[in-house]
Order: sequence, then structure tokens, then C-alpha cells
Amino acid sequence: MVQLARTGRSALVMGGVGVAYFALALAAISFTRLSDNVALLWLANATLLAALCTRPSREHLRLLLVAAVGSCAATMVISPFAPLAPIFVVANLSEAFLGWKLLGYLGQARGVFLRLRSIPAFVLAAGFIAPAASGVIASLTLWLARGVEPSFTWTNWMIGHGLGILIGTPVALLALGGRNYWEGLTRRFDVASFVLVMASVVAVVSVTFSQSRLPLLFLPILPAIIATAMFRFAGAALSVFAIAVIGAIYTMAGHGPVELVEGSQAVHLQFFQFYIGIIFLIALPFATLMAENRRLADAVAASEARYRMIADNASDAMLTLDPWGTIRFASPAVRELTGLEPLALIGRNALSLIAEEDRERVRTVHLAALAAPDSTHRVEYRGFVAGGATRWFETTARAVAKENGRIASIVSVVRDLSLQKAREADLERQATTDPMTGVLNRRAFQQRLDEIPPRDFGHVGTLAVLDLDHFKRVNDRLGHAAGDAALLSFADVMRANLRGEDVIARLGGEEFAILFPTLSASAALAACERLRHALETTDIATGAGSFRVTVSIGLAPMHANVPADELMRRADAALYRAKAAGRNRTVLADK
Ligand code: GH3
Ligand code: MG
Ligand code: MG
Repeated sequence: MVQLARTGRSALVMGGVGVAYFALALAAISFTRLSDNVALLWLANATLLAALCTRPSREHLRLLLVAAVGSCAATMVISPFAPLAPIFVVANLSEAFLGWKLLGYLGQARGVFLRLRSIPAFVLAAGFIAPAASGVIASLTLWLARGVEPSFTWTNWMIGHGLGILIGTPVALLALGGRNYWEGLTRRFDVASFVLVMASVVAVVSVTFSQSRLPLLFLPILPAIIATAMFRFAGAALSVFAIAVIGAIYTMAGHGPVELVEGSQAVHLQFFQFYIGIIFLIALPFATLMAENRRLADAVAASEARYRMIADNASDAMLTLDPWGTIRFASPAVRELTGLEPLALIGRNALSLIAEEDRERVRTVHLAALAAPDSTHRVEYRGFVAGGATRWFETTARAVAKENGRIASIVSVVRDLSLQKAREADLERQATTDPMTGVLNRRAFQQRLDEIPPRDFGHVGTLAVLDLDHFKRVNDRLGHAAGDAALLSFADVMRANLRGEDVIARLGGEEFAILFPTLSASAALAACERLRHALETTDIATGAGSFRVTVSIGLAPMHANVPADELMRRADAALYRAKAAGRNRTVLADK
């Protein structure tokens, strides 16, 4: 079905191009030809060029063929140069083909007149170079066959064909190029006003050219500009076309304001061509520029709508800051995140919402974002929430540069980090503590010891290793639960009897260690004795009454340049001696 429609459309385009080519060639030869020379406004090639620019390349050969038939037929039917028809066919077709090739080379064959930069490319390639080249073929032919002065033919051909392409191609694009060229007419009632405005263009142009008393050539510009402003490409293309065709008919017949120019009919016609060229250059770039701006505005509106959609619905807050850090926009999620009203933040400096200790760091990241637009920058900081408390946040920021490179704004996404920070702290705690007793585990204790460089070990600082006595027996007699209860009690006794700076750890089983960072050996000995006494008088409750346990302790004082593992070994040796000496005692290492 689709295939069928496509084939039908392609046949329609073929037929249309052939018929239009023939008709326009016929009209040009009949009405705009100077005696014994070429036509002054050759519109036929515009249909072929527009078809080459808009149709798929597999149709190009057939397009060239139907145009060739149209061209040949028109020349045979009416031109005095009928025997030369094949040569004119070659000149015409190579002109349109060359124009299309050059446009493609300049990157503008697709979407010509949809972008402003396609217009100079089009004028240069199709309006100048292609007709100048094909004019060489035509002028040489007429010179050799008829002895016509070649530069005269070449100038007429070049201007007539160039102008024809400039004026005719936009109209042919309206017929062949699809919706893009009609974007100035979007609503249904546009069609009625379009017809009305175009009718007034035709009326004003007719009035202007039907009289030769006043130099009213400026008058058609007014309705042409109105049509362009209202209907963009369609308005401009048809206005210029109407002015060119109606003006040409009157001027060729020797009527109209161009007659006021002093000089021969040839001078009048050249002046008229110049006038049409200027009208083209006024209307079409203007139309294209407006269409381009409209597309840009549509794209910006769509992107703005997307951004609002995200900003309004995201759980992360979004802020837009100006380059100086003043908040220009705050999304609704700011309320959930901070309890602050988004509207109340507008106009405030973002740094005023950041805890003093993190402000400098955030400012540095803000400056880095300004210096590298379009790259993303992350920063974590404490920020104020409603009530004046602080909470952890993370901001991802990106500067947006204007076309001139200046920074327009900084967009940032703000995320609540307090949950994540709490989770991190929790994980950290889990990794370093013994889950049963809540004191440090062996790994964390080892880390604490390793953090102290051996050369900093002084005469103060003592390490203790502690092991509960006959613990196997406790388990065996009272059960494992009672053993656990004893371990918990011992941890409590240690916490209750030691100072905050003392580091307590469970090395494993019923073996513990204490780092007294500031206690000399004798002070640590006294502390351990206190601890030992406290434990031996502590009743540990079980379901069936209570029991007591004792502990043996080995102490090793820190010495400069004695590493942690050696210290541990010495404390262990002292502990061994305490056990050997009968348990429930504290022994200080020899060294
Ligand atoms: P010593 O006085 O020589 O230290 O004798 P001991 O029985 O305490 O001997 P040892 O240190 O070799 O025994 C450690 C025992 O501690 C072995 C194990 O049954 C017990 N134990 C280790 N970890 C736990 C624990 O988490 N809970 C309980 N209930 N018992 C434990
Ligand atoms: Mg033991
Ligand atoms: Mg043990």
C-alpha cells in the first residue's frame, strides 16, 4: 500500500516536472525572449533543480529525461533555434545538474532555504556558477550557428537563467519539498489569510506595474514583507515569484515604472532583473532567518518543558544559580530536602546555606565549574536546613555557557546525603567493632597500634593483654550462655574502670587487649589491678544464681623504636607468666 502510494507520487512528480518544464520553457521563449537571442527569465530549470534536491537519487536519471523531453519539445515547438534543440537540452540539463552537485558539495543540497547558510550557497552555486557554465555552451552555439556576439548571449543567458533559478526554485520547493517549507501555515484559518495576503500582493504588484507615471517599485516590498512575516518561506517565495512574473509581463510589453529609467528596452529589462534580484535578497533570507528562530524557540521551549518536568518531579532538588552564586530557581523538592521554601531561596546566595566549615570547599568547586563549562563537578558538604541544623548534602553542578562563551548559569542537582553518611558510619563501625561486646575488634586495634609510628613510642604508653582464667571450665560447667554473659560483664567492667582515651579491644575468644596511650608502666599496672579487683568482685547472673570470674594480665611498656608486634609479643610473655604464677594477677614484662 505504502509502496503503491510512493510509486504513484513518484510518477506524479515525474509528470509534473515534465509538464512544468515544457510549459515554463514555452512561456519563457514566447514572452521573455529578446529578438534573435535567449530568454530573459528562464524558470524551467528551477523545477528540475528543486526535484533533484528533494527526490531520492534513484529518480534522478528519469527526472533528467522528462526535463530533456520538456526542454526539447518547447524549443522545437516555438523557438527559431529548433534545429539546435539538442544542444540547448544539454546546456539546460547540465546547468540544473551542476547546480545540484555544487550545492551538495557545499553541504546544502538537502534542506536548501531551511537554514540561513544555505542561501549564499544556493545563490553562488545555482544562481551564478551553474548558469555561467551553461551559458558558455549556449553562447558558443549561437555564435557558431548564427554569428551572434557570444558575450551578449552569455550575459543574457547567465542573468535570465540565474534569476529564473533564484525565483523559481523556492516555489518549486513549495510544491515538492513537503511540510517543512509550509511551516509558516500551521492552523486551518491560516490558509484563508494566506490567500488574502497573496491576493493583495498580486493586486499591489499589478497596480505598481500597470502604470508608468510614478516610480512605485518600492510599493510591492510592503505586502511582500507582510506575507513573509506572516507565512515565512511560503509567503516570501510566492511574493517574489508574483512580483517577478507580473513585473516581467508588463516590462516585456513596455509598460510599468521601469519605463521611467532612461535608456533602451534592453536597459529597462536589465534594470528589472536587478530589481527582482534585490527583492529576492530582501524576502528569502528574512523568511529563512525567521523560520530558523522559530525552530530554535520551539526546541528551547521543549527542552525547558522537559527540564521543568524533571525538576518538579524529582526527589533530588534542582537549583539554578547565576555565575555569582545567587539562586535564580529552586525546584519544589527543596522543601522535602531542607524544609525551606523554594521561593524564599530565590535571590539568596547559595553559599549562605552552607555550613561555615565547608563553605570554602564549595566555593572552590563553584569556581572550577565556572572555569570548565559543560563538565560536571561534585561536592559534598553540610548545609543548613529549616531550624538552623545542618545535614550532609551532595551537589552535582554544571555551568551552562552562552554562545559567546560567557557563563549564563550553573545548574545543580542537590541530594540528601545524611542517610548515606549514616550508613557509611554504620558500616565503618561494623567493620571495626566486635559485635558481641561492642569493643574494637583485633583488626581495628592492630590498626590503632600501627598508626603510632614506633619512634613516637615514648616512656609513657603501655600495652596490656588480658585473658580470662579457666574459661573453658566456665563454659563446661555453666554452659556457653554463661560464658557469653561473663564476656559481656568483663567488657562492661573494663569500660567502667578505664578512661576514654584508653583503647579496649577483643582479640578473640576470651582474650582482650588495652592500649594505655599516656600511662607509664606503673600507672598502667595500677589501672589493671583496679580492673582485676573489680572483676573478681563482680557477680555474673545466670538463670540459676550467679558466678564470678578472674582475669590474668600481661603488661608491656612502650619503648622508642620497639614495633607494635614486638610489644605484643612481650605482653603475651608477661601474660603467660601471670598464668603460670597462679592466675588472677598482673605481670609487667621484664623489658
Ligand atoms: P586459661 O586460664 O589457661 O586461659 O584457661 P582457659 O580455659 O581460659 O583456656 P583457653 O584460653 O585456652 O580457653 C579459651 C576458651 O574460651 C575456649 C572456648 O571454649 C572459650 N570461648 C572462646 N570464645 C568464646 C565465646 O565467644 N563464648 C564463650 N562462651 N566461650 C568462648
Ligand atoms: Mg583463658
Ligand atoms: Mg585464652
